[in-house]
Amino acid sequence: MADPRGFLTTRDRELPARRPVPVRLMDWREVYEVREKGQLGVVSRQAGRCMDCGIPFCHQGCPLGNLIPEWNELVYRDDWHEASERLHATNNFPEFTGRACPAPCESSCVLGINQPPVTIKNIEVSIIDRAFEEGWVTPQPPERQSGRSVAVVGSGPAGLAAAQQLTRAGHTVVVLERDDRVGGLLRYGIPEFKLEKRHLERRLEQMAAEGTRFRTGVAVGGDAEGDPSLAELRSRFDAVVLSTGATVPRDLPVPGREAHGIHAAMTYLTQANRVVEGDVLPEDAAISAAGKDVIIIGGGDTGADCLGTALRQGARSVTTLAIGVQPPSERDDAHPWPTHPVLFEISGSHEEGGDRSYLASTTGFEVDADGSVAGIRVARTAFVDGRRVPTPGTEQVLPAQLVLIAMGFAGAEDVAAGAEDSVAYTSRGTIEHGADWSTGAEGVFTAGDCARGQSLIVWAIAEGRSAAAAVDAYLMGSTALPAPVAPGMSALAV
Ligand SMILES: Cc1cc2nc3c(=O)[nH]c(=O)nc-3n(C[C@H](O)[C@H](O)[C@H](O)COP(=O)(O)OP(=O)(O)OC[C@H]3O[C@@H](n4cnc5c(N)ncnc54)[C@H](O)[C@@H]3O)c2cc1C
Ligand code: SF4
Repeated sequence: MADPRGFLTTRDRELPARRPVPVRLMDWREVYEVREKGQLGVVSRQAGRCMDCGIPFCHQGCPLGNLIPEWNELVYRDDWHEASERLHATNNFPEFTGRACPAPCESSCVLGINQPPVTIKNIEVSIIDRAFEEGWVTPQPPERQSGRSVAVVGSGPAGLAAAQQLTRAGHTVVVLERDDRVGGLLRYGIPEFKLEKRHLERRLEQMAAEGTRFRTGVAVGGDAEGDPSLAELRSRFDAVVLSTGATVPRDLPVPGREAHGIHAAMTYLTQANRVVEGDVLPEDAAISAAGKDVIIIGGGDTGADCLGTALRQGARSVTTLAIGVQPPSERDDAHPWPTHPVLFEISGSHEEGGDRSYLASTTGFEVDADGSVAGIRVARTAFVDGRRVPTPGTEQVLPAQLVLIAMGFAGAEDVAAGAEDSVAYTSRGTIEHGADWSTGAEGVFTAGDCARGQSLIVWAIAEGRSAAAAVDAYLMGSTALPAPVAPGMSALAV
């Protein structure tokens, strides 16, 4: 145990400061101040609050089964190198989860019963940042090659985790990505101010040095010349992992939807992330919030990412509409410890500006003479027979020259439409798979959002690792790779 009295002597959470709002709105850098090496005593003090519980509920809360009390003790004892080793024992990419995970481990931390929980996520990111800074994160190529080959389709966190595990197990792994850059939603979904892409780049360098190969601009099942079909991949590789994400956006088919200026959130965020990468977009295709009244439909994390992006682009006003009720600020009886409660959150983006409106049903769009959106018609939501419906007579029009639809995703795209002997899809639009992550097609496995439905980075990494173990067992007859989760599993807290 770190410090037997730590939770008594340090009762508050201490997190790094967020940069001042006016300053951070002028750039795309991460919201949190970077802690220098000399300031890490705060992190050790927080780690010292961990009680090394007999039943560490934080383990159950984390889909990766992160060894949280172990690295807390190591940080408290100033053994950051060993803490980094223990962190990497269960998580390929702690720099992503340490920045962007909603931290279900903290919701289930036992200390949270009567005190603020241990700052697990911040301790995690402090360990990995120090590990990179000190040069402790080095390539770990396999000692011998297996002679087997694997194609991983999709380069989000699920595909990357599967690829790293399989490369380290000695297989020849090629990651095929249809975009022009590797990373999936880590690259083109999550904005720079939540996850600077330099963290992704340095991890990709490690993977390339270990032997993982990357091919971009290759859409499996696509129409362009050079795009392979799934059947071709199956004949060229000993196994295939489909980790293509849940990329089909949920739409809002109400009158006026066809107007210019109404976009799916991912169309907008992808463009904004491209611009931050240095891409120059054709003027007629560029979507910008500058000087506009922006309405975001959908009150989740994607909506918050649109908000932060629109504010940085110089929007005149930003309003987020959510169809549900405003969540409580603290745990209510429906979400007791150790569940992960839905709370009214003030994320970095919310702190920066914008209004939020709840119980807001969109009934249509106002369209001007040029065919561009000019406003949005919104009515108050009522719950009738368990369904959310607009209340007649409550409709009002809000001005809008840019509308972003952030209502979630309806499942995965079909990588092999119409092909015989191929993968099947569930009614939820996810890829059907068995308990060993195998699909109906021989040698084809799946992991991440395309298998699970829209979820979180931590689940994508956990499933990527588990699917890698299944592929290794399929190729070699047995495996020593860890498999943190089974298909369909949900952690205690998420
Ligand atoms: C805007 C946004 C913000 C988010 N923020 C967070 C957050 O803060 N924290 C968090 O935990 N989660 C967040 N999420 C969810 C998280 O990003 C996803 O759960 C996670 O990225 C899923 O990983 P994945 O590898 O399964 O799929 P993805 O990351 O979606 O990657 C799939 C990849 O497959 C590629 N692909 C698809 N079809 C093909 C094909 N036919 N051929 C070749 N390549 C193909 C795609 O181009 C893509 O690169 C966010 C999601 C969104 C949309
Ligand atoms: S539940 Fe909280 S206090 Fe207990 S071991 Fe995990 S991090 Fe430490």
